[in-house]
Amino acid sequence: MRHVAIVGSGPAGFYTAEALSKAFGSGIGIDVLDRLPVPYGLIRFGVAPDHQSIKAVAKRYEKVALTPGVRFLGNVHLGADVSIEELLHYYDAVVLATGAPLDRRLGIPGDDLAGVIGSAALVGWYNGHPDFADLDPPLGVSHAAVIGNGNVALDVARILSKTPAEFAGSDIVAHAFEALANSAVRTITILGRRGPYQIAMTPKELGELGCLEAAAPLVDPADLPPPEADAALEPGQRKSVEHLRAFAAAGPQEGKSKTIAFDFFAKPLAIEGEGRAERIIVERTALGPDGQARGTGETYAVPAGLVVSCIGYASPPIPGVPYDEALGRYPNEGGRIAERLYAVGWARRGPTGTIGTNRPDGYEVAERIAALFPPGGEPSGRAGGDGLDRLLESRGCDPVPFADWQKIEAAEVAAARAGFTREKLVRVPDMLKAGGH
Ligand code: NAP
Repeated sequence: MRHVAIVGSGPAGFYTAEALSKAFGSGIGIDVLDRLPVPYGLIRFGVAPDHQSIKAVAKRYEKVALTPGVRFLGNVHLGADVSIEELLHYYDAVVLATGAPLDRRLGIPGDDLAGVIGSAALVGWYNGHPDFADLDPPLGVSHAAVIGNGNVALDVARILSKTPAEFAGSDIVAHAFEALANSAVRTITILGRRGPYQIAMTPKELGELGCLEAAAPLVDPADLPPPEADAALEPGQRKSVEHLRAFAAAGPQEGKSKTIAFDFFAKPLAIEGEGRAERIIVERTALGPDGQARGTGETYAVPAGLVVSCIGYASPPIPGVPYDEALGRYPNEGGRIAERLYAVGWARRGPTGTIGTNRPDGYEVAERIAALFPPGGEPSGRAGGDGLDRLLESRGCDPVPFADWQKIEAAEVAAARAGFTREKLVRVPDMLKAGGH
């Protein structure tokens, strides 16, 4: 019998559990730990609430969690409840699937002003993450700015501009739904430090901006290269650029009360305001021969009482695990950090790729673990989940098994407002109570 602990119950964690379970069959005990009482990580707290079809992949993870030999243990905090050393003592291998939950800082003057928010915090707020339930973003302002040209920037701009009716069928939490319904934001500027050809936005997500009820996207035609140059683009990027061209051709739209304005070649230099964000000073850029943005010296101000930086994420240091400050994650080779210690997903690769990218990642690390422990090999005699259970009990911890998550989920679905899929519980004590703890 082998024992593996996976820390983190998002996509990377569950794909790894699935792969290990297939590789070892009944010869393995897999514990998937999460610091929150609820599973699915990025699916629950990162994927936008109006992208329910993407969230549906949780059904696949549920199947894994219900596989014999696999346990979900929520409300178990690596660091506070159990250390890496202890997990390595009880389990044959430990896999970090802890994601990249920290916002990368802009690192410019004024980035600590009130009204400047990282995307992890804002997305966590509208998705009901307990850490951000009290964020209270300043939505009483008329101008917001979103920094970054990736899909998270699109999510944020779209959520900030949707009407209440457009949230039908979503699982946006009540506090965010109400705050957004009363929002005074009318102009959202998406700042990209490079140009339309360098966006990291995928076509489907970008196209959604053209179909909003009250908001219209706006692109300055002068920012777009000549159309014939599009032929050299990779097909996905060409489609994205086609959307930008369509937005530019449509121009400002009468009858739409909100504008999502793309501002390309605009590098944030500073955020200014009297005690809180009021404007961003940006520098006009041009692309250098290496394709990177070079400042031109020309600066201007973009009004913004709310600034959301969507410039990527980092993983936090974990005591006992090597950490690369510059990369913001755990240095590893093909997922191996150290003897019997692995990383998958964003903890392994950094914050890029789709949910599906985590699948081969998890399978590769599972193969490495399987190679380490070939069938018929000497058992290590490690205590596995029984050992962890005893340790957690001795520490007065209160792990939440999958069956109790199912009670939490049933309570959330039962509490759904009319037209929504669920009303997420956003406080850990409420989650525990609904789970029967
Ligand atoms: P991302 O795709 O890496 O985009 C980050 C953006 O931030 C880039 O445009 C980057 O510009 C910009 N940036 C970085 N540092 C900056 C700085 N100091 N100042 C100004 N701009 C800066 O990251 P993401 O949007 O956080 O998304 C993370 C991953 O999740 C991506 O793989 C994304 O596709 C995925 N995702 C997918 C969906 C979906 O499929 N629906 C939704 C959300 C997220 P440069 O290019 O110039 O560096």
